[in-house]
Amino acid sequence: MTDPRPRQVLAAIPAYRPGRPALDESHKLSSNENPFPPLPGVVERAAAGLARMNRYPDPGVTALGEALAERHGLSTDHFAFGTGSVSVLFGLLDAWCGPGDEVVYPWRSFEAYPIAVDLPGATSVRVPLTADHRHDLPAMADAITERTKVVLVCTPNNPTGPVVTEAEFEEFMARVPTTVLVVVDEAYVEFVRDPDALAGAAALARHANVVVLRTFSKAYGLAGLRIGYSMAHPAITEAIRKALPPFGVTDIAQAAALASLEAQAELEERVEAVVAERTRVFDALREQGWDVPSSHANFVWLPLGERSAEFAEHAHPISVRPFPGGVRVTIGTPEINDAFLARAAAFRR
Ligand code: PMP
Repeated sequence: MTDPRPRQVLAAIPAYRPGRPALDESHKLSSNENPFPPLPGVVERAAAGLARMNRYPDPGVTALGEALAERHGLSTDHFAFGTGSVSVLFGLLDAWCGPGDEVVYPWRSFEAYPIAVDLPGATSVRVPLTADHRHDLPAMADAITERTKVVLVCTPNNPTGPVVTEAEFEEFMARVPTTVLVVVDEAYVEFVRDPDALAGAAALARHANVVVLRTFSKAYGLAGLRIGYSMAHPAITEAIRKALPPFGVTDIAQAAALASLEAQAELEERVEAVVAERTRVFDALREQGWDVPSSHANFVWLPLGERSAEFAEHAHPISVRPFPGGVRVTIGTPEINDAFLARAAAFRR
């Protein structure tokens, strides 16, 4: 065969499959997006970035880096930015792993993990969640070998919702060699209301081998602009930056993220509204008899076993996300959450 052929490893890698399109945007409860429209002030600031689209963006993401550094009490050399936190993760794994290396992560968790691990030729070591849909950190520590380069921790866990507590994380870290990088993926951290939950930024201060991933896609409502970042020790950050494509984050995204940080109070109100809806949806599902794990993210998990595809069909025209073992449902507007709850009740009858 003389056709150009990609690396053999690609054949075994599944393509990332987004949720199916919905009737209209409000019916889309499949991608954990923010149900609120963009803040007008943020749109205005992003538009200023549009005006200089003939130029490459600021490669150093200077103003946003400074704002985040101040917020977290760190220097700017702790931050690496990418087109969504998923691209930062891809760069990080590219920088750390190759064939023969192992990456330990919980499963089921974020479906981009196996792709990001397998692409550089590393080996996925998946550790099943506990029966109550949480990370099994003792089993993850057991799974570490001399070939382990990176461990991924997702808190709250996508798609199931529970958090890792600080106490269990510290017990875990006591068993992790300091040569292993521990990535704490906090894509949903702004929705966490558990006082015992791990705070990645604080863990960073205690452990030089921790990397925290954050995104503007969820609580900040900028999923369409693709901007996320890592926080880590400067030496780790330098390596991640080298592995990321240059000019990956547009000025539009940089400006919108900075404006969003500055609109903190308004965005917090929106996050509170989502958290309140999450509580309402959770309580109603429990009332209906569903065995839903408590979620600290902007979604809930219905552990449907083999009936998840059937439920997703039944939920139509609301678009939810079926996985083997369960269905993940994003918290939407109150109206659409009511419509979902009605579908969920009908399914149980
Ligand atoms: N981590 C987790 C756990 C996620 O669920 C997501 C988005 N679904 C991401 C990272 C990536 O977010 P983004 O690339 O939009 O920043």
